[in-house]
Amino acid sequence: MSFEQLGLSSALLDAVTGQGYTQPSPIQEKAIPIVLKQQDLLAAAQTGTGKTAAFVLPILELLSTKPPASSNHTKVLIIAPTRELAQQISDNILVYGQNLPLRSTVVYGGVKINPQMMKLRKGVDLLVATPGRLLDLYQQNAIAFDELEILVLDEADRMLDMGFIHDIRRIIQLLPKQRQNLLFSATFSNEIRELSKTIVHQPVEVSVTPKNTTAKTVKQWIHPVDKKQKTRLLVYLIREKQLHQVLVFCRTKHGANRLVRDLEAEKIKSLAIHGNKSQNARLNALNSFKQGKIQILVATDIAARGIDIEQLPYVINFDLPHVPEDYVHRIGRTGRAGMDGHAISLVSADEFKQLSDIERLTQKLLERVFVDGFDPVHTLPVSVLRKPYKPKKPKKNKQEYHDGQRSQNASAHQLKQQNKQKPNSKRRNKPNTSAGNSMRKKFRIKPKRSQ
Ligand code: AMP
Repeated sequence: MSFEQLGLSSALLDAVTGQGYTQPSPIQEKAIPIVLKQQDLLAAAQTGTGKTAAFVLPILELLSTKPPASSNHTKVLIIAPTRELAQQISDNILVYGQNLPLRSTVVYGGVKINPQMMKLRKGVDLLVATPGRLLDLYQQNAIAFDELEILVLDEADRMLDMGFIHDIRRIIQLLPKQRQNLLFSATFSNEIRELSKTIVHQPVEVSVTPKNTTAKTVKQWIHPVDKKQKTRLLVYLIREKQLHQVLVFCRTKHGANRLVRDLEAEKIKSLAIHGNKSQNARLNALNSFKQGKIQILVATDIAARGIDIEQLPYVINFDLPHVPEDYVHRIGRTGRAGMDGHAISLVSADEFKQLSDIERLTQKLLERVFVDGFDPVHTLPVSVLRKPYKPKKPKKNKQEYHDGQRSQNASAHQLKQQNKQKPNSKRRNKPNTSAGNSMRKKFRIKPKRSQ
């Protein structure tokens, strides 16, 4: 199938051709006709599948025949969990919409709010936003939603992981009921299905990767190694394989900082990207990596969400993630668009549970490759493939949400209780310093996890 057959106009076809895309990716083939028909969509697609163009292109097509948004209004709202992803979607809108007279902007926390308010003053046809900053802007009357026609929730699974559920519900309440809804998620847990019921109406479901599978173009293996030897092994692999551009995942911000220090001591140029870094520091790190000025980008799971680096040959898991789905997201950074990728995990004996969870989720035993000189003293137990991993069913709660409206009987206290019951509690202990605080306080919302 070609982009022409999907019914896109020449302004968009030219932009797509300019990007060197010769044919639509599977998610684009499936999603574009549905969005153009103005139907609601529930799409299972990982980053790297071309999902952004799958919603941006048809939305631009729909907008091209409509009058512009009025001041402080938007026609399309795209919500993304991280600043990086929001910025990336906004960049894509500019590229794909280069031949159309549409206005768009992106807003996220961690930077000054005033310039964002100025941009919204004349109105925008498309607004990309992270939830906290969007609520702040709404509270300050910088944005109104009366003209909103399309809502996109991108990476909805991550949105829940990051504790944005209440922000999302609050935002939904502010929107006109009559609207088109598109929900994208890498995985469809029961929690996501529950959330989707309150957002999309009779959606068409599309899926481009079978649930929780890893891309076939990614070669995966693990190196069993003692915890204390991980840095030495990483340095050895970088030198031995002459790796020039590697994304390394760490579980914690401190772990990421420590690893950067250790790599720098070995004269391996590296930078960390995580939630304690300013937005500028994160963008600089990402750009330096893309431009080849640094060899290693060390990232935490949440900060890495939305990183778009084409044809990344290697991803190394310095630690295994606690949540097995994160493994799938992590290695989705390599082997993109049909290119070969390599996902290597350094696994110590104390990470056996995480390894088992990953193998259970992906229903695949990861090959174990021992490296001479790094045989572990603490042996990693032998893996056995267990039954498919099933996320826990969320507890049935009497209080139902309709159209994003909390039932009148449900008090703020009940909402809190419901949050407490959830597995992998999204409650955060740390105070959040972002500008979203005022809004969260106002709506008695728990602070969200820093990225
Ligand atoms: P995404 O899944 O939206 O993060 O996109 C991943 C990458 O695929 C981006 O770098 C896009 O530029 C690229 N891409 C999107 N659509 C296509 C296409 N039809 N053909 C080739 N590359 C594409």
